[in-house]
Amino acid sequence: MPTAYNNCMKVVSTIAELRQLVGEVRRAGESIGLVPTMGALHEGHLSLVDASRRECDFTAATIFVNPMQFAAHEDLSKYPRPLEADLAKLRERGANLCFVPGEAEIYAPDHGTFVDVGAIARPLEGEFRPAHFRGVATIVLKLFNLIPADRAYFGQKDYQQSLVIRRMVADLNVPIEVRICPTVREADGLAMSSRNTYLSAQDRRRALGISRSLREARGLAEKGERNAADILIRIRDVLVESGISQIDYAVLVDPDTLENVSSLEGPALVAIAAHAGNTRLIDNEILLPS
Ligand code: AMP
Repeated sequence: MPTAYNNCMKVVSTIAELRQLVGEVRRAGESIGLVPTMGALHEGHLSLVDASRRECDFTAATIFVNPMQFAAHEDLSKYPRPLEADLAKLRERGANLCFVPGEAEIYAPDHGTFVDVGAIARPLEGEFRPAHFRGVATIVLKLFNLIPADRAYFGQKDYQQSLVIRRMVADLNVPIEVRICPTVREADGLAMSSRNTYLSAQDRRRALGISRSLREARGLAEKGERNAADILIRIRDVLVESGISQIDYAVLVDPDTLENVSSLEGPALVAIAAHAGNTRLIDNEILLPS
């Protein structure tokens, strides 16, 4: 690889600079790993950087708070943007490049093309955030076109998003391997999320109910419980006891199709979206029958 990039991370904000740099890396025959993010980086994001560094010669991160995936009433304007701290974290973890475009660099005023991946984007998050995955798939495909990576890294934390991206890559013959990395949690179990910064101390305690309910579900499955309705009742009880103010969904579904399952006969996904105070959080866990 061009050794000049070994020890210092390049930060670029224009597509022209990005293409130039990535082109040099490609011509040098290096493999490229891509880690797309919206910034406000935590150990979850950084675990993706670590995975890319293990598997690829050159790691490119991106930081772009993508307006297209936020609905008008959502938190686009207050989404945290601690850019300097993010860049320091990426540098420290050994990323080689960070692409930090402004909105105008990404979306022309007359932008008119959107990626709709179909059925897998409709339930769960798709029901509560109808245009969300269209925005996610569109920006991710744009990033895939801008950075011709060998592999791209995403977190299991956003499980449905990972299925959406896999579907898009398969359907549109995108020559990038999608890698899904485990959810990174705080010591007490809370799934790391940039949105955790919104939580008051009290709401954070409430939010813990989400990971606790997933642990309870896993415990039940390990003890031999197979009835989905009974597992879901326990999950809802834990969420309510924890003071969760609103449950958007708490479901047990097929991990490939996201269709409800009534019994735990093979791996099944518990997926939860719930509100702690005003903050909407998602989490999930794969259950295995014992
Ligand atoms: P975001 O910045 O929220 O768009 O997330 C960027 C990437 O980091 C996505 O692939 C997420 O799934 C992943 N991610 C977010 N939180 C975590 C976590 N706690 N553990 C692992 N990956 C995560």
